[in-house]
Amino acid sequence: MACHRTAAIGICHLHTSSSSHAPSKEHYKVLVLGGGSGGITMSARMKRMLGAENVAIVEPSEMHYYQPIWTLVGAGAKGVASSGRPTASVVPSGVKWVRSRVQEINPDTNTVRTGNGMEISYQYLIVALGLQLHYEKIKGLPEIEDWVKFKIGSNYSVQTVEKTWSALQNFKEGNAVFSFPNTPVKCAGAPQKIMYLTDAYLRKTGKRAKANVVYNTSLPVLFGVKKYADALWEIVKSRDIQVNLRQNLIEVRADKQEAVFENLDNPGETKVLEYEMLHVTPPMGPNPVVKGSLLADEAGWLDVNKETLQHNKYPNVFGIGDCTNLPTSKTAAAVAAQSSILDRTISKVLKNEKPDRKYDGYTSCPLVTNYNTVILAEFDYSGQPLETFPIDQSKERWTMYHMKADVMPHLYWHGLLKGFWGGPGPYRKIMHLGMK
Ligand SMILES: Cc1cc2nc3c(=O)[nH]c(=O)nc-3n(C[C@H](O)[C@H](O)[C@H](O)COP(=O)(O)OP(=O)(O)OC[C@H]3O[C@@H](n4cnc5c(N)ncnc54)[C@H](O)[C@@H]3O)c2cc1C
Repeated sequence: MACHRTAAIGICHLHTSSSSHAPSKEHYKVLVLGGGSGGITMSARMKRMLGAENVAIVEPSEMHYYQPIWTLVGAGAKGVASSGRPTASVVPSGVKWVRSRVQEINPDTNTVRTGNGMEISYQYLIVALGLQLHYEKIKGLPEIEDWVKFKIGSNYSVQTVEKTWSALQNFKEGNAVFSFPNTPVKCAGAPQKIMYLTDAYLRKTGKRAKANVVYNTSLPVLFGVKKYADALWEIVKSRDIQVNLRQNLIEVRADKQEAVFENLDNPGETKVLEYEMLHVTPPMGPNPVVKGSLLADEAGWLDVNKETLQHNKYPNVFGIGDCTNLPTSKTAAAVAAQSSILDRTISKVLKNEKPDRKYDGYTSCPLVTNYNTVILAEFDYSGQPLETFPIDQSKERWTMYHMKADVMPHLYWHGLLKGFWGGPGPYRKIMHLGMK
């Protein structure tokens, strides 16, 4: 190889001649895979650390989406246009954007192959490829263009989020049914946030008396952290919402508007529920490129150290966000906290020093419980609350709704994606007078 791998080198293009057979080859000191929340954030931080010319990012999508706001889009409280910006506007200036899909990662040769025929070699690799949605695993789920007709919606993708709002508006009477799959998910609160908003919308429009609101979840609990689960149980009771645990959506019979759930405690036993509106949270799994590489753990997730975010076998590989096997809830808030740790880890590795800062699993989920209230869940690896504000965050609050709807989007676009927001850790200390 024509370029040596010292800390001082910048970009060095190896063979840029493009013969029709040989792949075009490039080399970067840091290569970032995926231009979602984690990928853009880390490319901004790496640009600051090493200079833009040393960083490249591979991302095929022309648009970048702030997914957390889809909860409000599905309920008609925000427009879908507010959730997206051109990828070109969020890739840090000067950083090379490879507009293609990663097809193969080969950590033994420090190379990545992309869909547009490039072979990119790297000195350090940051994997931020997110997770994969699996709508196709639900038998009978119709083509997306037919969802409005069949009164189905899903806040989990940009193609389907507005269908949720259509289903809400078209609701006349019957069951409003919400599912939670039998897989890891991103933002584990989102499947029930839309349920509370639907309940509120039906009350506002005078239709609640003719509706049953039903939440069928694969989980054995309403929420994974007891403090917030207790608060949510009070809410579902007071609003007459029916919660059924260990129920997994396996089939949709759209023409009859029926949803089929399997009882996970008694496999093979199914229940058919007629619906007037169905909100689907799809099964999710590891990114297929990660799963098919040597970087994956047994389940297919990127195998990283839970404290440093460095890969467990390849020390020049790092991971952030939903694609990893970090045992915490997959959220953009977690990405923020991870980004400052990873920044520190990489800066240490570059100096041949030992990473010294540890990720505590911080994650956060603003549980929207109405059009003007939120319970702000924040917790760590141990499932213990790790709250920023010196108030009881398990209470529904207007201020937290304002944070979710108005403050956090700004923090995302102007703080996180620019590499300036590393989570609320330092502020938590100040808010609690240095006691937390
Ligand atoms: C409805 C909903 C509500 C949510 N609510 C919240 C919330 O309230 N708070 C919160 O903190 N988080 C929330 N989240 C979760 C949050 O959006 C994600 O956890 C976060 O975006 C994860 O960032 P990421 O970079 O790991 O993945 P993503 O942001 O999903 O980015 C992955 C990127 O990888 C790209 N990619 C995939 N495959 C390839 C490939 N082969 N080659 C190149 N690129 C590829 C994708 O195009 C994508 O851009 C919510 C998510 C949803 C869907």
